[in-house]
Amino acid sequence: MDEKNKRIIVGIIAVICLLIALHFCFRVENGSVWQTDSGYRPVMGTLARVIVVASDKKTAQGGIEAAFEQISKIDELMSYHNPDSELSRVNQNAFKGPVKVSAPTYYVVKKSIEFGKLTDGAFDVTVGPLVDLWHKAADSNRSPTEQQLQQARSKVGCDKLILNDAEQSIRFAVEGMRIDLGGIAKGFAIDKAIESVKDAGCLGALVDIGGDIRCFGTPLKGQEHWLIGLQNPDLESENQNLLELKLTDKAVATSGGYQRFVIIGGKRYSHIINQETGESAEGLSGVTIITDSATDADALATAVSVMGLEKGVQLVENTAETEAIIISPLPNYGIKKTSGAEEFIK
Ligand code: AMP
Ligand code: MG
Repeated sequence: MDEKNKRIIVGIIAVICLLIALHFCFRVENGSVWQTDSGYRPVMGTLARVIVVASDKKTAQGGIEAAFEQISKIDELMSYHNPDSELSRVNQNAFKGPVKVSAPTYYVVKKSIEFGKLTDGAFDVTVGPLVDLWHKAADSNRSPTEQQLQQARSKVGCDKLILNDAEQSIRFAVEGMRIDLGGIAKGFAIDKAIESVKDAGCLGALVDIGGDIRCFGTPLKGQEHWLIGLQNPDLESENQNLLELKLTDKAVATSGGYQRFVIIGGKRYSHIINQETGESAEGLSGVTIITDSATDADALATAVSVMGLEKGVQLVENTAETEAIIISPLPNYGIKKTSGAEEFIK
């Protein structure tokens, strides 16, 4: 490599380092308050970021670390892929006998069953066997056979979960069942992180885990609300914001096949599964839910992706303090907003 090219590469690396340093050290005195941005950290199989506003630097830093501590704890309990998680212990043993779990895991599983009932079964955390089947299909680049789908479906259904409130235990009625909390755990972790930022004495915060977000209190300097860009799922550019949301004390979650998917025979399949058919849910490109709790927003975004436009809109319209922005794919590309959604659009 000649000297000129070396100088160019060193220059580029220096600029990248400077940008990273600026990003991670985003600490600005905002009048009498501090703003601290954690930058993105890998957790829960994605990237998470916490921005806090506090009366001083120490409180802000304490809020950020408390939030990440919560997020990591929940990941250790509820990760589907970590064989040492509490959830994996349930998945390995709950057919042999009831498995006692921690209060957070029990709460999230109970809440998931409630969402299953609310969504006519569209939200179903027992989809594990189907999730595994589609991952195996992607690895071998061959679609699952009808027989494989049927076999996996026989191990799916919240009616096959046996919960004991007194013991806080979970048992499977059918061998081979597996709970996957991927459609709700991020939201729960966000709610818990917000709680700990509040407990740490911060004045405001935004917690983002993989694009699912909740904010509270004082927003960033010069802004009246927390501003959140909604990415357009159907456009090539990753930075193409479809619209901007202005939120105060709200959560927003987005589900869509464009975020995570598997590829089989060159075709993209969404990671969200219609448990009735065993196939991936392909009807909608993006479903964004705005509501008070991130747990609810996360579960509903996944559920509406399965339910489709008509039933999904109906459900959201009938749910208090909840709005949706739903994007239908080409050739019928369109954006459907529920009746109160406009209030949150900048
Ligand atoms: P989200 O990105 O929140 O929509 O969650 C998608 C994840 O939830 C998937 O990767 C699966 O782990 C899980 N999942 C897939 N289909 C469903 C479903 N019908 N109900 C609940 N969780 C699901
Ligand atoms: Mg979800």
